[in-house]
Amino acid sequence: MSTCTLELPGRAPIRFELDPALTVLDSAAKAGWELPHSCRRGNCESCRVQVLDGEMSPPAQNGTALLCTSRARGDIRLAVDRAEPVSTTTRKTVQARLYRLRMAAPDVAVVDLRFPAGVKVPFKAGQYLQVLLDGAEPRSFSMSNAPKSSDSVQLQVRVMPGSLFGERVLPSLKPGDPVTVELPLGDFYLREGPAPVIMVAGGTGFAPMQSILEDALARQKDRSFTLYWGARKADGLYALEQVKKWQQKFAHFRFVGVLSDDDSDHGMRRGLVHEAVLVDHAELAHHQVYVCGAPVLVSAARQAFTAQRDLPPGQFYADSFATVGSGSVLPSSA
Ligand SMILES: Cc1cc2nc3c(=O)[nH]c(=O)nc-3n(C[C@H](O)[C@H](O)[C@H](O)COP(=O)(O)OP(=O)(O)OC[C@H]3O[C@@H](n4cnc5c(N)ncnc54)[C@H](O)[C@@H]3O)c2cc1C
Repeated sequence: MSTCTLELPGRAPIRFELDPALTVLDSAAKAGWELPHSCRRGNCESCRVQVLDGEMSPPAQNGTALLCTSRARGDIRLAVDRAEPVSTTTRKTVQARLYRLRMAAPDVAVVDLRFPAGVKVPFKAGQYLQVLLDGAEPRSFSMSNAPKSSDSVQLQVRVMPGSLFGERVLPSLKPGDPVTVELPLGDFYLREGPAPVIMVAGGTGFAPMQSILEDALARQKDRSFTLYWGARKADGLYALEQVKKWQQKFAHFRFVGVLSDDDSDHGMRRGLVHEAVLVDHAELAHHQVYVCGAPVLVSAARQAFTAQRDLPPGQFYADSFATVGSGSVLPSSA
């Protein structure tokens, strides 16, 4: 049996046995270790690590490999930012039903799904689900509700021209129609501890932040939470009423809205959302930073915060909203 050794910053190495039938990410989970990941399909780059020794299949590129799609060919040694004991939540596939669908902005749909009577699926605030579609790749969406009752979920879906789920499937759904989902997935959730929290959301990257804030603000009053939310235009900040309620209720919550492509005066900052964080913080060495949105935002934020503001890489948590693409074909019956 081959082994994998994980080298972690400031910690003793972790060693576990590899299951040759599984990807390195799944082998680690089987051995009880959760490694940074997100889409699980090789799209989002969240699980890319440095391969220090050993051979991977497919072979490492520039000394790096994606854990969610790679297997090991013999013993391997990897450099990873963090490894945490695996979460105990069990993933389930559920036939949910559409409860309500409304547009929060011209291109953002808020989708409420209910699970069948008696079915509960616990999840951690910030995690995501996959919508399973006949004849097409699953689509990933973060839960935007706090996981209070575990019998329903809310999603915030960006509706892009030509998109399969957003533009073709969603508008055809009526209340009561079935929507098959698999959940929970992902390692994007709030870590405990006193460290001040900075959240950076781009567009519908607000969804998991809403879940986390609704879950944590009332419980974690000794900790500061700052949400930076960026969009191109003002209507892209589609849940400002909710944000205002948090501002009024919680003194330890701060909000900074950032518009990249809007010259009117909405009381928001101008520019790129992660750059607003750089302007406000000379260093981030003792913060936890949570970033969600387009892959370009996640990689720019990771690079800038770790290289220019001393954020330890293990304290950067992200879900990169990688797009599946419009090439998939859905049968007309779906
Ligand atoms: C872990 C994770 C969590 C996610 N959570 C969310 C979420 O909460 N809300 C959300 O809206 N998206 C989220 N996404 C992104 C979403 O899964 C993809 O954008 C997905 O492809 C959308 O499916 P679709 O069928 O609507 O569009 P597709 O048919 O897959 O896409 C068609 C085309 O539309 C464009 N497009 C579609 N969606 C987007 C987008 N969000 N941004 C930019 N261009 C886009 C692309 O050009 C794409 O080629 C998440 C992705 C991941 C990996």
